[in-house]
Amino acid sequence: MYNSVIWIIILILRMKKIEHIGIAVKNLNKSNDLFKALFGESHYKIEDVESEGVKTSFFKCGPNKIELLQATTEDSPIAKFIEKKGEGIHHIAFAVENIKEEISRLQGEGFTMIHEVAKRGADNKLIAFLHPKSTNGVLIELCQDIRD
Ligand code: ZN
Repeated sequence: MYNSVIWIIILILRMKKIEHIGIAVKNLNKSNDLFKALFGESHYKIEDVESEGVKTSFFKCGPNKIELLQATTEDSPIAKFIEKKGEGIHHIAFAVENIKEEISRLQGEGFTMIHEVAKRGADNKLIAFLHPKSTNGVLIELCQDIRD
């Protein structure tokens, strides 16, 4: 009993679920039309994230969320990604309860963080990315809701 309570607490403190999937696109307007046709519903939000040099839009598909990202500067990580790999899935984001604790847990497990300190991202979240060289080539984002 005691053990299972501890186990549940540990689970809560780790990654909770996939928060969204990020897709790199060249032209956000065109892609918004495409994903609207795909889901039968428009994006519910467009947001500029100046610090990352991206413009984002968000779609809901049932309980899931898709983030489209278009570069707004030439040195944006999205511009570099599209140059190397073309359009496509860019990252998978996981919701966490406490991003600071999660970053230290992951560093303790030997993962390399791109952001060792969480920063403000789109959609009212604190975010931090793990380096894909430590995660089998998958870019992983941690997201914590900002509670004001
Ligand atoms: Zn994201």
